[in-house]
Amino acid sequence: MSREGQRAEQIRQLYADLRAAEGLSADVLSRRIQEIGFRCLRCGECCTGEDNSVVVFPFEVRRILAAAGLQWLEAVEPPKEGEWDRNGCFHTLEWRLKKEGASCKFYSRSVCGMKGDGVCRIYGSRPLICSTYPFYLDRGVLHFSECRGLGGEVEPDTAKKMAERLILRQVTEIREAIALLEKYEDFERGEAGEDGRCIVHDSEGEHCLPSRS
Ligand code: SF4
Ligand code: SF4
Repeated sequence: MSREGQRAEQIRQLYADLRAAEGLSADVLSRRIQEIGFRCLRCGECCTGEDNSVVVFPFEVRRILAAAGLQWLEAVEPPKEGEWDRNGCFHTLEWRLKKEGASCKFYSRSVCGMKGDGVCRIYGSRPLICSTYPFYLDRGVLHFSECRGLGGEVEPDTAKKMAERLILRQVTEIREAIALLEKYEDFERGEAGEDGRCIVHDSEGEHCLPSRS
């Protein structure tokens, strides 16, 4: 199948996934979250460490910029993974929240620096991936990542809100993926070159940066 054919097939599948995600029941999901259990212990482990890599969509970036009073490249950066084109430009997908050292740029430890007492400085504007951690949906099936708070007691209202956010996140991720694929301009692969420009593809099209960092 040609690349265009593959893209059309991916988009068709994503629309089917979108219809399924829109039909998910928050009540069913909420009961499953209560069975698993979760209470955030504010250990900060999901905001720190080498594995911390927060994918953020363009509309979420704008919300963060408004809340934090920052410019685009002060808040986010392109991921390191990608491919080179024949002109020596680096192409990559989606944005990640910036890091300072091993931590998310927006994570602040308490003044005394004790573990478990950190805060998110953009809490009210944090991305969906953060507000639903440690849970995520894969084609409607609930999964969870490593987290000290799993198994903790969760109030029904809290579980219901988490379920609603998870469905919103799944629907948003699929819509963003469709928009990205529909706008994506393919390119001929090449080697790393002199040019050094970085082209980030997202749901709004292409963004050209002078370099990868
Ligand atoms: S790893 Fe789990 S318990 Fe720790 S801050 Fe993140 S969500 Fe809360
Ligand atoms: S945005 Fe906030 S919740 Fe998300 S990783 Fe950064 S500090 Fe943690």
